Amino acid sequence: MNTQILRFWVFFMLMDMISLKQVSPNRITVDFPTLENNKIFRKVNKDSTFNCIDHSLKPRKLKKLLIPFLFLSIASFGQSKLRPKIDQSSDQVESKVIEWRRDFHQNPELSNQEFRTAKVIAEHLRSLGMEVTEGVAKTGVVGILKGGKPGPMVGLRADMDALPVTERADVPFKSTVTTTFNGQETGVMHACGHDSHMAIMMGVAEVLAGMKDQLEGSIKFIFQPAEEGVYDGSIAGAELMVKEGVMEDVDAIFGLHIWAQIEAGKIGYRSGPFLAAVDNLKITVNGTQSHGATPWYGVDPIVSSSQIVMGLQTILSRNVNITENPAIVTIGAIHGGIRSNIIPEEVNMIGTIRTFGDEQQALVHKRITEIVTNIAESSGASAKVEIGKLYPSTVNPPAFTSQMLPSLKGAAGEENVIAMDPITGSEDFSYFQREKPGFFIMLGGMKIGGDPLTTASHHTPDFYLEESGFKLGVRALSYLVVDYMGMQ
Ligand SMILES: [Zn+2]
Ligand SMILES: [Zn+2]
Repeated sequence: MNTQILRFWVFFMLMDMISLKQVSPNRITVDFPTLENNKIFRKVNKDSTFNCIDHSLKPRKLKKLLIPFLFLSIASFGQSKLRPKIDQSSDQVESKVIEWRRDFHQNPELSNQEFRTAKVIAEHLRSLGMEVTEGVAKTGVVGILKGGKPGPMVGLRADMDALPVTERADVPFKSTVTTTFNGQETGVMHACGHDSHMAIMMGVAEVLAGMKDQLEGSIKFIFQPAEEGVYDGSIAGAELMVKEGVMEDVDAIFGLHIWAQIEAGKIGYRSGPFLAAVDNLKITVNGTQSHGATPWYGVDPIVSSSQIVMGLQTILSRNVNITENPAIVTIGAIHGGIRSNIIPEEVNMIGTIRTFGDEQQALVHKRITEIVTNIAESSGASAKVEIGKLYPSTVNPPAFTSQMLPSLKGAAGEENVIAMDPITGSEDFSYFQREKPGFFIMLGGMKIGGDPLTTASHHTPDFYLEESGFKLGVRALSYLVVDYMGMQ
């Protein structure tokens, strides 16, 4: 039985006994040692009659004394006794985490090309005595740390890839790596902070490996490639890892993202839909070509397309319950026609759809199709809608979030845990959450006192991270793991 549960049980048994004393004061007395002994109860007679050693302490007083014990029990419920050791070890590993992060930062690799990165990670995990598998979902690395006691398999995930961004930040470990991407010369930069995710998780691995005999379960360290996506239409990243079976033996999973708009030392989270689902939208409108001076001889797909663009915006104002969650439909490009006096035959549009949760996603997709096809038909044109589903919405299950929130508060301090608004960006951590309960959090990486509005955002050349925030990431993930194990 879990020791916390045992404490509760003992407490309620004692409370029950004292209630009996109040009901039948003449029959039952309480065996109570002096307070100096710092032991509340020491003996329970076989005949269920208790002898009160210190008669000055009445049961009512005793009950009062037990109340703080109850609060202590409640406050510590779900807290692993390994927490103090984690605090100490995360302090010790901090300088290494910063060093690893700087090394990754200077050696960034794009999606599915994380070869050097994978090697560094695998070597570290092996040095900690883990069972390591490389080449998972192309360049991913999975390490298993077996705990000394039976218990669940807890997954931890860090993403590995960098972006085609040329770094401008003035740091001594600035990236000077360049490549050709989509036919363009570009710098390569960890402009989303995945370098810090890997370094933090390597820190967690070291911290927890140092107490593996006391772990009530095992940990699967999942280093995932290609979170930023690939452009060849293939399955990659988290989706591919899941397809390859990485989640089959995992009972629950935790992951974090550094967040440049939250101060270092703080953690953000959201219960329910947190990050958006992202889907690609492609619309083709077909009309009948005619002279620009005689539109009545044709069907104008440009006018239809204009109506479609405006019509799509009514989904958000008229169909989506905006009090629950936002949604976005953006048309990013329209192409049609070749010169001023020719009405073309065809117009093509592309856009992006952001939704929160499967139900809302289905509604928005349905309304897009209805609006596009019906507007086109109303003018005699025809239209085709193609929606390419990319990442699902990252959703923190509310019950699991409530269960694990005390671990975050324990790691960061209650005042440093922020409930966040939904984020219209997306994350493929959602694929792991679709398999097993998963909790995704945001770790502060902004300078203390910085202004989120003027701080360079993710995916930009000036993206910068305050390294003092990393230690909290190590502590928070470690707390989540050991507390979760203790709850099983
Ligand atoms: Zn990113
Ligand atoms: Zn990212």
